[in-house]
Amino acid sequence: MDNSIPDNRKKKLDSLFNAFSLIAEGTYVFLCDMRYDYSRWSKNAVDFFQMPSEYMYGAGAIHMERIHPEDRRSYEESINEIFEGRSGAHDMQYRAGRIGGAYVTCTCRGVVIRDEYDQPDYFAGIIRNHGLLGNVDSLTGLRNQYSFFEDLSGYIDRKERVCISMLGIGKFTEINEIYGYHFGNQVIQKFGRYLLSFVGSRGQVYRLDGVKFGVISNTSSAVDAKALYEKVRIHLRKGIPVMDKRPILELNCGMLLLEDFNVDDQTIYACLNFAYGESKVRRSGDLVEFFNNLNDENRQRIEKLHAIKASIKQNYNGFYLLYQPVVNATTEEIVGAEALLRWQNDEYGIVPPDHFIPILERDPQFPELGRWILTRALTDAKEILKKHSNFVINVNLSYTQLEKPDFVDTVLEILKETDYPGDHLCLEITERCRLLDMSLLKSVVVNLKAKGIHFALDDFGTGFASVDVVKYLPLDTIKIDRSFVINIEEDEKERTIVDHFTSIATAFDANVCVEGIENAVMRDILQKYKVHSFQGYYYSKPVELKQLEVLMDREEKHE
Ligand code: C2E
Ligand code: MG
Ligand code: MG
Repeated sequence: MDNSIPDNRKKKLDSLFNAFSLIAEGTYVFLCDMRYDYSRWSKNAVDFFQMPSEYMYGAGAIHMERIHPEDRRSYEESINEIFEGRSGAHDMQYRAGRIGGAYVTCTCRGVVIRDEYDQPDYFAGIIRNHGLLGNVDSLTGLRNQYSFFEDLSGYIDRKERVCISMLGIGKFTEINEIYGYHFGNQVIQKFGRYLLSFVGSRGQVYRLDGVKFGVISNTSSAVDAKALYEKVRIHLRKGIPVMDKRPILELNCGMLLLEDFNVDDQTIYACLNFAYGESKVRRSGDLVEFFNNLNDENRQRIEKLHAIKASIKQNYNGFYLLYQPVVNATTEEIVGAEALLRWQNDEYGIVPPDHFIPILERDPQFPELGRWILTRALTDAKEILKKHSNFVINVNLSYTQLEKPDFVDTVLEILKETDYPGDHLCLEITERCRLLDMSLLKSVVVNLKAKGIHFALDDFGTGFASVDVVKYLPLDTIKIDRSFVINIEEDEKERTIVDHFTSIATAFDANVCVEGIENAVMRDILQKYKVHSFQGYYYSKPVELKQLEVLMDREEKHE
């Protein structure tokens, strides 16, 4: 008997299939005429699994070839049950993919539709491909961070020049606080949709993380990118309709033109994040281009950054610490030293920390490097403590290390591992820590102070919330940045400022350290103020541990 499907049954299959596809948006659909074992599968499934055709006899067996060998038995059993009439539904998970390709996790749900004689007539179902869904953000329906990284690597591999932006909604916490979390989610959704329609065929939009979105476009000039961003900004300043309200959205934006292909996606992300942070913190939301002047030097900086990041993975190869003495302001004896990070390799020579710390500090790898720095510094300082029992080592922290929930434990662990006394360690924090939750920060400081550890506020006066930080945190020392004393010899104003700063410190029971003493005249002037310690090239540049030991031993002999 010829068991080919007759025309009327084929028509019925198609009309049922079309009806069915409508309600199964975003998934794969299959429909099988069980009398003839003749099926139609949706085109996206045929493409994804590389099936022979949308119409197939024996589709179950064809699909089985694409299922992971370990999952085939249960799939076969379930299909047999259906076709032998022992089961009316199918609901299972398996791994599947094109033949010879990678597997993705799928869930498959199907039901048997019976005819008027209660015989199995059609088997209809949907397959959800979680491999693909995993690349989509569930709130906005936009492609997510994984897709962003995937596409980015593609552009780098193919050496395609593109413009990459990171855009985000500023002061979003306020929106959440005023209107509630649910409303906040709707704002994110609306914003995502607006971006998608605005960018259109110019590029791709992704939801990266929280309120941050990514756009990769073929815009080739920074000027064009800025003009487009300004349009978006002006539009959203007029407010965006959400429920019955119209919240005004302030944006931030970091941007980078991909023109250098000797980098990886993670480095690009770190650079973008840095530019975004600058836009937010310093530029009130203006678009900040990462190294907007792509001369050779700047291009090299991105490559350098890539090499530095790789060093963290390669056992910190290339990183080392130098030590700059801290002297008592009156006696000028060395009382401690500050550990200062350096990185060096054959190609780039010695790279100062200013070139990479501000960019890498938001990198997920940075806390690892921070751990290495502290361990190295304490191991070295322990050697000095053997001979000089009052020695205190200063170690710089980045604000991103402080926000890790295990920061206190990490420090205590390192003290234990290195068997180092907490009261001979001073941690230097900068005003950038005001970006953190202040009560959390205070508890970190208080907890570590209980173990004897000292705290210093570095670069005092360079940010705009210095006094707030001093007021709020129990700090031991305030370090006045060298920019306030560079011209102290001739500049009356600088003297007034130093006088002012020392009064603030005294009011809060903190000591003062002045950085950047470069000559005896500066020293003479500053000794007139309530300054406890000095640091600067006049005493010593940052030096290797061995040299520091020599300097300290020499001092001892003079006594
Ligand atoms: P900082 O902590 O304020 O360090 C003082 C900087 O001033 C050092 O620069 C030092 O070499 C320089 N300096 C000291 N005395 C003088 C002087 O008399 N004249 C001049 N012109 N400069 C002087 P360096 O080593 O390049 O470090 C720059 C910054 O990088 C540091 O500023 C600190 O914020 C950061 N940094 C360094 N090491 C680390 C680290 O291990 N972790 C973190 N998170 N940041 C670090
Ligand atoms: Mg410092
Ligand atoms: Mg400083």
